[in-house]
Amino acid sequence: MIGLLGGTFDPIHYGHLRVALEMREALGLDEVRFLPCGEPPHRGRPGADAKTRAALTAIALAGEPGFVLDRRELTRDGPSYTYDTLRSLREEYGEQRPFCLIVGADAFAGLPSWHRAGDLLGLTHIAVARRPGETPVIAPPLAALLGDRLTENPADLSAAPAGRVIWVEVTQLAISATAIRERLRQGRSPRFLMPDAVLDAIRKQGLYGREPQRALTDPG
Ligand code: ATP
Repeated sequence: MIGLLGGTFDPIHYGHLRVALEMREALGLDEVRFLPCGEPPHRGRPGADAKTRAALTAIALAGEPGFVLDRRELTRDGPSYTYDTLRSLREEYGEQRPFCLIVGADAFAGLPSWHRAGDLLGLTHIAVARRPGETPVIAPPLAALLGDRLTENPADLSAAPAGRVIWVEVTQLAISATAIRERLRQGRSPRFLMPDAVLDAIRKQGLYGREPQRALTDPG
């Protein structure tokens, strides 16, 4: 079974890497494909361009068996929709290979508003990262999408190409790319929140630096 972790990865950090590793172990994934998005549909422009975010992701994944950078969303024109990505992966891997989309509990709560939400579970399983001890709240629109797809048994996922949803308890690391970008802008260190090699590349290339001093040129 192939795990799929989409995101902006702006930049990649230990929150992403840890959830991928724990999902790989819990579900027995053959690999986890990291899919940096091109133009994110749900938010504003990222702090770094798509090629740079992918390059930093490649640095983070180097040497970890079964972690793979997948560039298919980078070059797509317009918004990156998970539905389109899954269709493209199905074309490559066929209809029988089990896929498992990895999402955080927050992202999962918003699933009903995703593009072609009702078709996603025809293309993939979904594994939701859950905080230890957390009881998931499932609002009615999500419950309608879920039906009787929930399972607690990872073997149910391997047994079919798509269609099941499983909650997986993962170590919660309260790390966000937003907070890392903010630290970098402020000249504070994000070390130990992300791999050193990624931070080195960010510093070498002067990424996520301070914003231009608008006050100096702004006549208003
Ligand atoms: P930003 O702060 O810029 O919104 P982010 O740190 O949340 O970014 P994304 O690239 O949006 O990172 O996340 C990609 C995926 O990784 C999402 O499914 C998200 O839920 C998950 N994720 C992000 N941070 C963590 C974390 N600390 N622990 C577990 N999962 C995470």
